[in-house]
Amino acid sequence: MEIMADRVVLIHYTLKDDKGAVIDSSIGGEPLAYIQGHGNLVAGLEKALEGKQQGDVAAVSVAPAEGYGIRDEKLIQRIPKRALQGSGELKKGMQFQARTEDGMRLFTVTAVVGDMVTLDGNHPLADQTLNFDVQIVSVRDATGEELEHGHVHGAGGHHH
Ligand code: ZN
Repeated sequence: MEIMADRVVLIHYTLKDDKGAVIDSSIGGEPLAYIQGHGNLVAGLEKALEGKQQGDVAAVSVAPAEGYGIRDEKLIQRIPKRALQGSGELKKGMQFQARTEDGMRLFTVTAVVGDMVTLDGNHPLADQTLNFDVQIVSVRDATGEELEHGHVHGAGGHHH
């Protein structure tokens, strides 16, 4: 069965940067389960996997524009600490999700100086070419319930 929209795909993957350093990998753990065509993966990877079959392996290089985006200095902002009430003690390197005009975005605290906090809304992997080694473990049709929920149930997915 080949990968196409509305199919559940299980993959093992290793993600490396341009220097060959491993950023993330599923090897040694459970495969990643996702539904093709629902934007669950970065766009460039999902596009490259379309049409692949169970058992295939693929080396996929994804440019930043189709990966985690191009760094945008406008996404860096300084705000008063009190605007982040309820976040606990703020420390450099902390990350949290916040709602923006463009939907949910991951912010990283890059500096805490006095009463001001600097937040960077760029993805930590912005501007990076993503080099994936992917092995397609299995492909099956998604159930109606999975399509309704927008995520995979069972192995590698949600259990509820
Ligand atoms: Zn569900």
